[in-house]
Amino acid sequence: MGLLLGAKCFSCGYTNKCSFGGNMFTYTKICMVPGIDKKTKKFVVLNYLEKHNPLDVVFYNNKELKGKTLSFRNEKIQFGDILMNSDNNFCPNCKEYFFHFKILYYTD
Ligand SMILES: [Zn+2]
Repeated sequence: MGLLLGAKCFSCGYTNKCSFGGNMFTYTKICMVPGIDKKTKKFVVLNYLEKHNPLDVVFYNNKELKGKTLSFRNEKIQFGDILMNSDNNFCPNCKEYFFHFKILYYTD
């Protein structure tokens, strides 16, 4: 079961949406995870299970994109062993750690 996430930065107001995880038929092959393209610095959502060059992309389960301090409301957003924080993530727009993910709904 995957998730649809809404993402919003509380510093600059940047918003986006992304899927997270896979669905019940293809989860062994497809697991979508948001990240940052290291070259363009843009927000991307890629299949985590494909081979990615760590020089090209960093995913939001990486501590590089996680803020060092977390708000008291922080929740773990998890799919399998991929663990992200809901709060205080790196914002692709303003580069501050005020980017928050919120679960909008679950997908099959
Ligand atoms: Zn921002």
